[in-house]
Amino acid sequence: PWDYYYYAEKVRRKKYALDENEVSAYFSVDNVRKGIFTLAERLYGVTFTELPDAPKYNPEVNVYEVKDKDNNHVAVFMTDYFPRPSKRQGAWMSEFRGAFEDTDGTSARPIVYNVGNFTRPTADTPALLTIDEVQTMFHEFGHGLHGMLTKAKLRSQAGTNVDRDFVELPSQITEHWALEPELLKEYAFHYKTGEVIPESLIKKLEAASTHNQGFEITERVTAALLDLEWGALNPSDSENIDIDKFEKQVAAKLDMPSQIAYRYRSPYFKHIFGGDGYASGYYTYLWAEVLDTDGFELFTEKGVFDPATAKSFKENILEMGGSEDPMTLFKRFRGHEPKVDALLRLRGLAPRKEAAKGGDINIPGGK
Ligand SMILES: [Zn+2]
Repeated sequence: PWDYYYYAEKVRRKKYALDENEVSAYFSVDNVRKGIFTLAERLYGVTFTELPDAPKYNPEVNVYEVKDKDNNHVAVFMTDYFPRPSKRQGAWMSEFRGAFEDTDGTSARPIVYNVGNFTRPTADTPALLTIDEVQTMFHEFGHGLHGMLTKAKLRSQAGTNVDRDFVELPSQITEHWALEPELLKEYAFHYKTGEVIPESLIKKLEAASTHNQGFEITERVTAALLDLEWGALNPSDSENIDIDKFEKQVAAKLDMPSQIAYRYRSPYFKHIFGGDGYASGYYTYLWAEVLDTDGFELFTEKGVFDPATAKSFKENILEMGGSEDPMTLFKRFRGHEPKVDALLRLRGLAPRKEAAKGGDINIPGGK
C-alpha cells in the first residue's frame, strides 16, 4: 500500500497527460471569483457589486453587496483568500452576522465571508489557482450561498444552521460547476493571452476526473466505517482496548482489500473523538456526496443552468436552512429519496446515463 500513490500518479500522467501548470494559467484568482459570481447570477439571479469603501478587517479583503434581480439587498459577502502569518490553515465560510426575521417582520440580512489560503501572486504572475484550489473556492462559496440566500425566520435555523450530514450539500453540489465546460468558457481565461481555455484541455480535465476513483471511494468508506465502529463500542469495552487489534478486526469484518491502508490511523483520526462536533461523523462527507451527486444529476439531465431546477434548489434547499427536516427538503427538490447511483456514475464507477435532451453530459471532476 505504501507504493500505491507513487504508481497511481504514474498512471495518471500516462493516461491523461494533464499538466496542472498548463491548467492553472487559466485560473487566476480574479477569474475564478468572477466564475463563482457568474454561477450565482445565472442560477439564482443574484449580483455581486464591489464596495471598495466598506469597512474591512484586513486590506486584502474584498467586500461585495449582493442584490436580487429586483435590486433588493440580499447580503454582504467578503472574500479573504491569501495566507498571512496570523491566519489558520485551510478554507472556510463563516458569518459576522447571521440572518433572521425580527419581531416586527423586518428581515436582518447576513454578512458572510469566505476564507482561503490560496497560492499568492508573485512579482510577475497573478495568483494562479490549482484545480484543487478552484474547487475549494466553489465549495466555500456554496456554503456562502446557503448563508446569503437564506429565508429561514429563526437565527438558529438560518443558513448553514442545519444537520451536520446535510450542511455539505450546498457546498459540494456547487463544486460540480467549477469544471463545467459551459461555465469554464465564461471564466477560465489565460492570464497572459486572455484566451479562453481550449476544448482540448477541457476534454483532458473531464477524462482525468475519474482517475483512481475506485480506490478513493473504498478508502473513504473504510474510514467512515472504522469511525462508526468506534462509535458503536460500549465505553466500558473500550477502556484498555488494543487499537491495532481493533483496526485489524474491523478490516477483517469489512473484507477490506489489502491494497487499502486506513486513510487515518485511529489515534490521530480526529473525527472519531469529536473536535468541531464530528464524533462518529466522518460518514457525513460521503452521505453529502450521495445528496450532491443525485442533486447535480438532475441539473445534468435538465441542463446545468436550467432555470426551473435552479429555482427549485434555491427555494427548497438554500433558502430553507434548517427550518424543515432535510429529507423532506431533499425530496421536494429531487422528487425522490437520495440514491447512490449518481455518485457511482459521476465517479466513473458505473456506466453514465445519456442526457435527456440529447448530446453529451459533461461531468466535471470530483474532489
Ligand atoms: Zn464544507
